[in-house]
Amino acid sequence: MATASVKVAVRVRPFNSREMGKDSKCIIQMSGNTTTILNPKQPKENKSFNFDHSYWSHTTPEDSNFASQVQVYRDIGEEMLLHAFEGYNVCIFAYGQTGSGKSYTMMGRQEKDQIGIIPLMCEDLFTKFSDTNNDNSKSYSVEVSYMEIYCERVRDLLNPKNKGNLRVREHPLMGPYVEDLSKLAVTSYNDIQDLMDSGNKARTVAATNMNETSSRSHAVFNIIFTQKKHDMDSENTSEKGTRLKEGANINKSLTTLGKVISALAEVNKKKKKVENHIPYRDSVLTWLLRENLGGNSRTAMVAALSPADINYDETLSTLRYADRAK
Ligand code: ADP
Repeated sequence: MATASVKVAVRVRPFNSREMGKDSKCIIQMSGNTTTILNPKQPKENKSFNFDHSYWSHTTPEDSNFASQVQVYRDIGEEMLLHAFEGYNVCIFAYGQTGSGKSYTMMGRQEKDQIGIIPLMCEDLFTKFSDTNNDNSKSYSVEVSYMEIYCERVRDLLNPKNKGNLRVREHPLMGPYVEDLSKLAVTSYNDIQDLMDSGNKARTVAATNMNETSSRSHAVFNIIFTQKKHDMDSENTSEKGTRLKEGANINKSLTTLGKVISALAEVNKKKKKVENHIPYRDSVLTWLLRENLGGNSRTAMVAALSPADINYDETLSTLRYADRAK
């Protein structure tokens, strides 16, 4: 099946206190859709990349590329939600080194104007349901799951007591899935927010225990919504999944994710109709996201960047990773 290319955005966060303490210089420039990185050791050497969106945030909101949380949601989340209603599997993921702003973009903070893509999307989802509530020909149900993949093992963040390594299996029709992963029914935005918060707490505990290696963990928040159409004499159910993931430094899942996305981009460029050589099976993350990356899906990626010269190498490699996804 032909795939659409991945929509790619980059977002630079403000300096953090550590960077300010070191008197760091800003090495990122953004103009329109172009993001440029300057090499701090060779001031004349710079590299430019074009993405669907380049989001600036580390100075004032008056800057032309400044993007609020709502702006990022409108550009990326809203479109993906629309695709989900059209019947696509949609996947939004954040990529970048630890502390670059992935959680901020995906989850955000509770304060006003700081809410991230996932909660904004959930809010919109339930608004859309209530808008169509008067339409007796359709009904909806929503379930969520939340897992963490660490060293190719899967943990249930909504049932942290289940410490075991959950088994990844393949259903002949539905594809790869995680056995015994909790799937909880939700009927409001607040339900989702509560589950996300408790899952995040389960994550933080684990991250503390893992110390520096916590950056190798990936979180996948999955929203499954089912639309039922009732016509005169038949019932037709379709399932749509929205998976959102967050990841960090190089490891197997991440390397493979890069390969999968580049391979899908190639398939798309060549307008090939086959996806034979996509290495989904090489990691747990890509295997579980197979239906959300290729085939009947729409994918968006936000590459999160630090503005500081001290992170030049990591930031350049994030930009290259994002560039390969286009
Ligand atoms: P990551 O999830 O990539 O490890 P975080 O999202 O936790 O990183 O971001 C690190 C810190 O930077 C947090 O305190 C976060 O609130 C802040 N931050 C990240 N991106 C932005 C942004 N675009 N605007 C304002 N603050 C941000």
